[in-house]
Amino acid sequence: MNYSTIKQFFRGLEWQLFRQQIIFDRMVTVVNPDGSISKHIVCEYCKKNIVVSRHIQIHHTPIELTDDNVNDVTISLNPDNVKIACLHCHNKEHDRFSGPATKRHVKNKGVYIVYGPPMCGKTTYVKENMQPGDIVVDMDRLYQAVSLQPLYDKPDNLKYIIFGLRNTLLDNIKTRYGNWNSAWIIGGYADKYARDKLASDLGAELVYIEADKEDCLYRLNYCNDYRQEHKDEWTEYINNWFDNFTK
Ligand SMILES: [Zn+2]
Ligand SMILES: [Zn+2]
Repeated sequence: MNYSTIKQFFRGLEWQLFRQQIIFDRMVTVVNPDGSISKHIVCEYCKKNIVVSRHIQIHHTPIELTDDNVNDVTISLNPDNVKIACLHCHNKEHDRFSGPATKRHVKNKGVYIVYGPPMCGKTTYVKENMQPGDIVVDMDRLYQAVSLQPLYDKPDNLKYIIFGLRNTLLDNIKTRYGNWNSAWIIGGYADKYARDKLASDLGAELVYIEADKEDCLYRLNYCNDYRQEHKDEWTEYINNWFDNFTK
């Protein structure tokens, strides 16, 4: 098989199989506080767990992959020439955070709707991919900003004031008003119709953070914040999301 560009190579079956093998070989087994055992993928740079499988990056190093060496399998498909990285560390390795705005990989005034079930890692995803100068619309944080209650504690009587704030922000995003770079809108958006409509209204790209119900419930057990102390309420949010999700 001959690839003329790195892009083609990464779409090929050989790379997919190699990637799976690397991930499988480097899995770390961990004993959880409740005695159960789980397998983790760890970033070889920052040593943090990579919880969302599509965030696992395989980085070619010490020899960086180029269009010129991509067909040399001793470089492109060599386990000794790759490291597992999280999104953040991978971007850092490729220097994607520095340089003038035009050189950045994120489009200027790009709008992204990051959706998925509660506890799936939406905020983590945004934190790893955003840059200073971007705006983030997140209901949980809007509640916190005006109520000064703990994060995720959402006094019901404030609902309409929060919706008003969010709608103002969404209007500004729609008209690309204000001097922000990219906008990230975080939400459950289980319903496909509502989700697609919002995306087309805003000219936004949809980013689905995939997780199954067991993953979400498991993370709820160990999240160590307000949500853990209100486990019943949040279990219901998780169940509702999966009941209402349409692809
Ligand atoms: Zn990392
Ligand atoms: Zn890389």
